[in-house]
Amino acid sequence: MENNTEELVLKETPKYSKGEVLESMSKIAIDMIMESNYKFYFYVLNTLKKHVTLGVPTAGVSLVNGSSDDIIDFCVNFYVNPNFYMDLDENKKLGLFVHEMLHIVNRHIISNKDYSDHQLFNIAADMCINQYIKKDDLPEGGIFIDDYIAKGMPLYKHESTNYYYNMLKELEDKHERGGSGGTLSGVDTQDAYDHHKKYRNEELHIHKSHDGWKITDKYGNEIIEAHRKALEEMLGATIDEIVKDAKNMGIVPAGLEALLDELYKPAPDFAWKRMLRLFANNSKKTYLKTTMKRRSKRYGTIPGIKIKRKQHLMVAIDTSGSVPDAELSKFFAEIYHIYRAGASITIVECDAAISKVWEYKGRAPKTITGRGGTSFDEPIELAKKLRPDGLIYFTDGECYPPQGDPNCRTMWVVTSSGESIEKMKEDGFKGIMAKMSE
Ligand SMILES: [Zn+2]
Repeated sequence: MENNTEELVLKETPKYSKGEVLESMSKIAIDMIMESNYKFYFYVLNTLKKHVTLGVPTAGVSLVNGSSDDIIDFCVNFYVNPNFYMDLDENKKLGLFVHEMLHIVNRHIISNKDYSDHQLFNIAADMCINQYIKKDDLPEGGIFIDDYIAKGMPLYKHESTNYYYNMLKELEDKHERGGSGGTLSGVDTQDAYDHHKKYRNEELHIHKSHDGWKITDKYGNEIIEAHRKALEEMLGATIDEIVKDAKNMGIVPAGLEALLDELYKPAPDFAWKRMLRLFANNSKKTYLKTTMKRRSKRYGTIPGIKIKRKQHLMVAIDTSGSVPDAELSKFFAEIYHIYRAGASITIVECDAAISKVWEYKGRAPKTITGRGGTSFDEPIELAKKLRPDGLIYFTDGECYPPQGDPNCRTMWVVTSSGESIEKMKEDGFKGIMAKMSE
């Protein structure tokens, strides 16, 4: 996307200052809070980095690794072309925001790669999400399910993007490739097909605004598979949290909740992830903190007690060399989730001895190269000193158990190709043990 910046800038000059655009964008954000059905999208919008740029023809979202060096820095960008955006009516600006946020919560940025026909996916994606936006708030010429239905296409409302993709595929198969039409056989779909053909045009805004749906580094270049996977999982975890919070607040718009529930069903074979989250959650301590601000209602003058939940976890990484990068990424995607849930996390890198201790701030190391030799003893000793609420040790498990006791809850996350849990227990490892799935 950013590769095209120069070319487009030559053709177009900004008619509005960045300040004007940003001011208008904040105004729209406030409108989102005020509108009960759009409140949810305000929380999504808040997690994005906003860019005002002529590098995109209209507006769009993309998932990027915001770092240029050896680390993963999760970042979702929201791009707005100032000339396109500022010329929209106020309610259409609002609709545009909601439209883009819906693409994010429906994971269109990452799921489009699973569909062979990207252009058809663009249409299916817009057909799915535009049902949750008031028609007046959307630009004319958008994809509306009601138009298809009016032309004779039998479609259910409030279904998944996948469903609309398959139905449109059937429509095209029937009219272009002489297919039976599946569920469309015996239905007169000629008008619907003629209507549908209009959206196949490459010049349409809908296709341009979806151009950013690929995962890249911050320069728009491709990234390695392990990073892509980690970023995808981080996006999933982030949206998961937002949806959970929004549900608790009761602000998920009617109809959308069922769609999201379907989308965010937990994967069946990730027992280790569930165990890890449970472990982190159970390590929470409740701290009682006295405060002068909140006075006890009962005694009036005595300082009130504020209950503060916080949690410090130590995460030790066995860097002895037999831990695959892909699993390290998966592991850190989970650590990111725990971090976002409010834990403070100290990372300890160790092979035969500790090489590095650092505070985790949401960024994962890209790769960890070991120098061989394994011992768990130093991190265990350090845990005794730092007194974390829990110690999570990421390792292949191929070493003697530690000599000492960390004096805190301990969990061993073992790589899929590492030692078996049974053998580790036999060898005398103590604590919770979970093996990663392939
Ligand atoms: Zn769209």
